[in-house]
Amino acid sequence: MPELPEVEIAARSLAPQVIGRSIVGIASMDWERMVETPDIQTFYALLPGQQITAVGRRAKWILISLASGLTLTVHLRMSGRLYVVTDERVVDKHTHLVLALDNGARIFFSDERKFGRVRLLDGDGLTALDHAHGPEPLSEGFTPAELARIMRTRRTPIKQLLLDQRAVAGLGNIYVSEALWMAQIHPLTPATLVAAAQIPALHAAIRAVLEQAIRHEGSTLRNYRNGYGQQGQNQEHFLVYGREGAPCSRCGTAVQRLVIGQRSSFYCGQCQPLS
Ligand SMILES: [Zn+2]
Repeated sequence: MPELPEVEIAARSLAPQVIGRSIVGIASMDWERMVETPDIQTFYALLPGQQITAVGRRAKWILISLASGLTLTVHLRMSGRLYVVTDERVVDKHTHLVLALDNGARIFFSDERKFGRVRLLDGDGLTALDHAHGPEPLSEGFTPAELARIMRTRRTPIKQLLLDQRAVAGLGNIYVSEALWMAQIHPLTPATLVAAAQIPALHAAIRAVLEQAIRHEGSTLRNYRNGYGQQGQNQEHFLVYGREGAPCSRCGTAVQRLVIGQRSSFYCGQCQPLS
């Protein structure tokens, strides 16, 4: 499932292909429920003629800024892909939205599981989306002290706290598993009980795993592709994620898997003891 690095790479790779282009129309749409806001008639009415001025990211949302001041936002959720097609290929059954651009290219939103979502937001809507999320972990404002402040009041397991988009933006199952292994913190440790001395290590680990994943163009487990339709390579570099039974690269103990809140957590029982 795409997390911060994958969404960042998707946005960065879309940008040079679409900035300055105008959306001439919705060439295809077979899953209107993806559009959360506005209502579908307004969505159809507003989009044609919009020029794309920027592509960015907030949390796990791709933000496509339009010259009118509106922002087309896309959440890839489980299996979404947003990419530009410049050839004549036929729209396949998993592509539920196609935007035609003024240069003949098309933006495909493909989503096998259909959990992906689209919103066309005005300034207030964009502000609300921003406020619904915690700090960006790669931003200057996200300091060890800020992470400590977020963790101080929460008795929830650290794994679940870090998955909560209102606490910290953009993290998901993969990078939380990786960061907790790096910082040597058991995923079930209540956030308030993580030793103060471990918080700077956790902060550094979160940034390190995200930066590494961005360098490797994100992780492709199954569906993820960048804005050119290409896979990431970071899945080749996982420390613990998906490595149940394999030796921990720090101590050699077999990596374990634990299900927390219906999500798999991978950790080393030796390096990450539950104290
Ligand atoms: Zn270990």
